[in-house]
Amino acid sequence: MIRLDNLLYGVQPRATRQAVVVPPPWDGRLIGPVVTDSREVTPGSLFVALAGERTDGHRFLPDVVARGAAAALVSPVTLAALAPDLAAAARPWRLIEPTESALLANVPPEACLLIAVDDPLQALQRAAVYHRRMFTPTVIGITGSVGKTSTKEVVAAVVSQRLRTLKSQRSFNSDVTLPATLLGLTADHQVAVLEMGMWAAGEIRFLAALARPHIGIVTNVGPSHLERLGSIEAIANAKAELPESLPAEGWCILNADDPRVAAMATRTPARVLTYGYAPHADVRVTDVISYGLYGIELTVVYQGAQHRLRTPLIGKHHAYTALAAIAAGLVLGLDWEAIAAGLRAPGEQLRLRVVQSQTGVTIIDDTYNAAPLSTIAALNVLAETPGRRIAVLGEMLELGAATEEGHRQVGAAAAQTADWLVAVGRQAQTMAEAALAAGMPPDRVAICPDNESAIDLLNQMIRSGDCLLIKGSRGVQMETIVAALQA
Ligand code: ATP
Ligand code: MG
Repeated sequence: MIRLDNLLYGVQPRATRQAVVVPPPWDGRLIGPVVTDSREVTPGSLFVALAGERTDGHRFLPDVVARGAAAALVSPVTLAALAPDLAAAARPWRLIEPTESALLANVPPEACLLIAVDDPLQALQRAAVYHRRMFTPTVIGITGSVGKTSTKEVVAAVVSQRLRTLKSQRSFNSDVTLPATLLGLTADHQVAVLEMGMWAAGEIRFLAALARPHIGIVTNVGPSHLERLGSIEAIANAKAELPESLPAEGWCILNADDPRVAAMATRTPARVLTYGYAPHADVRVTDVISYGLYGIELTVVYQGAQHRLRTPLIGKHHAYTALAAIAAGLVLGLDWEAIAAGLRAPGEQLRLRVVQSQTGVTIIDDTYNAAPLSTIAALNVLAETPGRRIAVLGEMLELGAATEEGHRQVGAAAAQTADWLVAVGRQAQTMAEAALAAGMPPDRVAICPDNESAIDLLNQMIRSGDCLLIKGSRGVQMETIVAALQA
């Protein structure tokens, strides 16, 4: 939530900002949350009209007004071009320049304020920077190729045991959703846990400039986004922008087992705390026991003392998620009781979901997204389940030059972990060949050109007691397979 006077001040370009005094009936008005999808507007929201690839938010302003938005950031030029029918909107509205706050005295309190700005996205970002500077929470930024959302959820679960915590919703990690999250800061928050994503070099530096984190966590560096960045070194450099942006009195929390991440220790002004299996890791895990779909138990050594911790996170790879959260708790001075309690109750937004179908089949639904590292981790979870283990794997997108190699790795891993491989989509052949080369019997490897043929095949072959792992990139919509099998 942001106060209207702060919003009208914050959206102005910094060099030419003019003071804002909001008269009654608008003084003290709180606006939020920020939304960019008109369908998510609820009474009181701040809508930001953005130009997307397919459409432009300005088109939906009549709906935004009707749904009760308190205000919207709009470009008046685009508004005139794209929302001519706004005049007939179901509710009063008023287009107002941020510097014209005195005029609000004559605007009915139930009206929707359309705040005229040059560029709604930049205005949102400026407002977020201004809003952020009014408060003094400890900000934790989290980046890495895989595990950002998982880590964000578990860090927030740990920290919120003792401190009032704001966290990014879902996978909100972009130059749109991170500022939107920042506008949710209030004086009450002691900590903000923010996911930071990356599409191009410079983006993490930009997000860090908005959020000004004191603590940075880098989970790992892998080939996700190789297509856009060109090389794994370029990806590592882009992730290193978070450590580089931290202050000297801050903390940089690094995965000691990923050499590219560990090397970032020399690139940060902040103090460094490392985690992992490596003997020199500051927060060291010595033993991980997996209870399959019931979670993991880990033994952690810190400053010579040993701690045993349980978490319902599924898969041994989540030892890293837990370690990052433990490290964050430690630098914030939390006691081990709080850390253990947080690990036992991680957030609900973790993606690997276990579904029991009515026909007695267990489905590990990890269809949100896929990269080689996370797919191999998920296969290792499948390996520990009872019954016939069937890996249903779709294409992993955006791997660029690592596309073939990535799918080969995954196919070979399937041969080690699953009884059956159902390879789906454009890379099915590559995955299947790698599985056969790794010794999987030919009658247990199937190639399906698309999701529909995979559904047909699975409907014929699955029986009660089977366990399926279904995973693929966001773009190949493997969730349609989960839905079809559940129906
Ligand atoms: P996105 O870039 O899509 O926002 P993310 O970085 O937020 O992804 P998560 O959503 O936390 O990543 O996890 C993505 C997948 O990777 C999940 O399947 C998760 O179980 C798996 N995963 C998480 N941490 C690790 C890890 N350390 N090693 C391997 N796999 C992991
Ligand atoms: Mg995420």
